[in-house]
Amino acid sequence: MSESLLTVRDLHVAYGQVVALRGVNLHVDDGEIVAIVGANGAGKSTLLKTITGLLSPRSGAITFDGDLIHGRPAYELINRGIAMLPEGRELFREMTVLENLHLGCWVNRRDTKLRNERVEEVFNYFPRLRERAHQRAATLSGGEAQMLGVGRALMSNPRLLLVDELSLGLAPLVVAELFEILKTANRRGMSIVIVEQFVHLALGNSDRAYVFAKGEVVATGGSADILNDPELGAAYLGSSTETAPPPRTAPKKRPAKRLSRAGQ
Ligand code: ATP
Repeated sequence: MSESLLTVRDLHVAYGQVVALRGVNLHVDDGEIVAIVGANGAGKSTLLKTITGLLSPRSGAITFDGDLIHGRPAYELINRGIAMLPEGRELFREMTVLENLHLGCWVNRRDTKLRNERVEEVFNYFPRLRERAHQRAATLSGGEAQMLGVGRALMSNPRLLLVDELSLGLAPLVVAELFEILKTANRRGMSIVIVEQFVHLALGNSDRAYVFAKGEVVATGGSADILNDPELGAAYLGSSTETAPPPRTAPKKRPAKRLSRAGQ
């Protein structure tokens, strides 16, 4: 069997005494959009932070394109083709839109031709950013700021984009527009991992999903199958809609459930 683009094997991560991930296994194949869903505190952000090297695992392995990547510095991960849109965007508010975009291409900063081509691609995705190119990021609306966050992540032309809470604080129409851009980028070859509070959004915009609870994968399968599984919905996902947040209480522990298109 050919190797997945991203493989996470038996991953354990803790913050001191607080264990956040307990033996997580998952994979993302080339060209997939994979959603990670689960209640607050399930471990979703911890997973992304560990993949991008912000956290070190206690044990386990993360491979990208067949190579071990955990513990590698950020610039190496970017060079390999991994980019992340962090929760809250983390823009440089006093810098202009264009300067923020340039930072997304930092590892290739000396290649101005390449950098300008990438800026042009981002402006084609988001014409509004072209209009605002010389405005400070602080002056953007929430939706425009998130467009800039996505645009900056696209500047490194990643093979894998990790997206943490795309919809945070945004109007539904803007969120729909952003997901359409991500799906276009996906059709052009970019694989995507979506971490999203709003389960319908995550499952409605992905091919496959992993359901997390208390730091473990409790179910995996096709996103549509998970969305339509009443038992899973009641146990782990609540009656969440695009406008209602998932439940805050952790569900009762039960064995992992594997749906039709099971992961590893
Ligand atoms: P949310 O959607 O609320 O961000 P999540 O699924 O992303 O939830 P994580 O943020 O990964 O969950 O948190 C997993 C567990 O790790 C939780 O129990 C959380 O309280 C704990 N945790 C997260 N960050 C820290 C930290 N900096 N220090 C200690 N514990 C933490």
